[in-house]
Amino acid sequence: MLNLEKSSAAFAEAKTLMPGGVNSPVRSFARVACDPPFIDHAKGSKIYDIDGNEYIDYVGSWGPMIVGHAHPDVVKAIQKAAERGTSYGAPTLLESQLAKKVMELMPSIEKIRMVNSGTEATMSALRVARGYTGRDKIVKFIGCYHGHGDSLLVKAGSGAATFGQPDSPGVTAGTAKDTLTVPYNDVEAFKNLMDTHGDEIAAVIVEPVAGNMGLVLPKQGFLSTLRQETQKHGTVLIFDEVMCGFRVALNGAQAAYGIVPDMTCLGKIIGGGLPVAAYGGKREIMDCVSPIGPVYQAGTLSGNPLAMTAGLATLNIISAEPSWGKADYTRELTIKTKHLLQGIAKAAKDAGVKIQIHQAGSMFGIFFNENDVYDYATSEKSNQEAFGVWFMEMLNQGIYLAPSQFETLFMSGAHSDDDIVKTIDAAEIAMQKVAQ
Ligand code: PLP
Repeated sequence: MLNLEKSSAAFAEAKTLMPGGVNSPVRSFARVACDPPFIDHAKGSKIYDIDGNEYIDYVGSWGPMIVGHAHPDVVKAIQKAAERGTSYGAPTLLESQLAKKVMELMPSIEKIRMVNSGTEATMSALRVARGYTGRDKIVKFIGCYHGHGDSLLVKAGSGAATFGQPDSPGVTAGTAKDTLTVPYNDVEAFKNLMDTHGDEIAAVIVEPVAGNMGLVLPKQGFLSTLRQETQKHGTVLIFDEVMCGFRVALNGAQAAYGIVPDMTCLGKIIGGGLPVAAYGGKREIMDCVSPIGPVYQAGTLSGNPLAMTAGLATLNIISAEPSWGKADYTRELTIKTKHLLQGIAKAAKDAGVKIQIHQAGSMFGIFFNENDVYDYATSEKSNQEAFGVWFMEMLNQGIYLAPSQFETLFMSGAHSDDDIVKTIDAAEIAMQKVAQ
């Protein structure tokens, strides 16, 4: 059994200082049977807690750490940047460099605005879409999480799903009424909604690969229907690639599925572990943004030089030309992830445990569910008790997974073959426990 003595004491104190002892709800481990390990440091594929436990980390700070923790190139770049001052509140070359890099990887983005969190990116993108179209209503899909902006905290997944608060108190009825919701992957329901309300709808926002009700993949024809219907009604199609951008494929889910959105939201990897996010898209839409357009959006620390530097260093690593005989960075991760999942699938089968395994690039998720999972309702039917046993058994063996079945797991470039073997060995034991 893990010794979490120091973490438990630290958590007890933190609870007197912060709501639930944390600065983001899912970190509290509220739905699993132990206190959260308090992290001391991290390097490569591993994180280390204050009790001295070492874990192979598949949370990766909820997605950003695609090149592993404390990658030497990223650390060096941040150190060098810090010596030049940590914030100026004035334009820098770094902002243009990161903008160019992102636009090179995602050509649907013709202009971009850097912000500090995914929440800010989606919230701002919606404001711009509303300003551009002169319409109020938006459509989101049940179980998709787009951060905690008021109009998007309606039938959200992630922490909201785990905590059973799809409609948070504090979001006014007035705000929620302009957010129309449809089940993910339900093409007919979406078409019907657009037939009735299409011309009142400013934007349709979607996680093109959904990572916040567990990992749920778009069915064939789902994303293309969104594209066709939004085009028909003059509605802005926003891909929220905060999680899946640069992961499902280097050029994002939009490249993997061949759909060009009007706007894209990015976060997580774009900041390489520092607080950066962005929204961007068609020039005509982005030219509505202040100071050239009337839609106001701003930020004291937006485009912060340390954060731009960490993002650039990370994107440079993952987009570098592969060495001879190797696939590109994100494809290598996809292959590694597949190996891990083959091992986990075998462990489950050998133990007689029915699971659904989903993968999209280096994102993956496991549902303790006998049936297909393709939307929030089917995801919600997964066995929570089995998940709890699996989670604790893996943690006890030094494998750090997200403490909720409604979250996605991530592979990094730092995970070694040895890490994968160790994880599969642990999975064999954990699946046997689940079966008991
Ligand atoms: N959009 C998606 C798809 C996300 O997964 C998240 C966070 O997990 C967000 C938006 C919000 O990002 P942040 O937590 O940086 O506000």
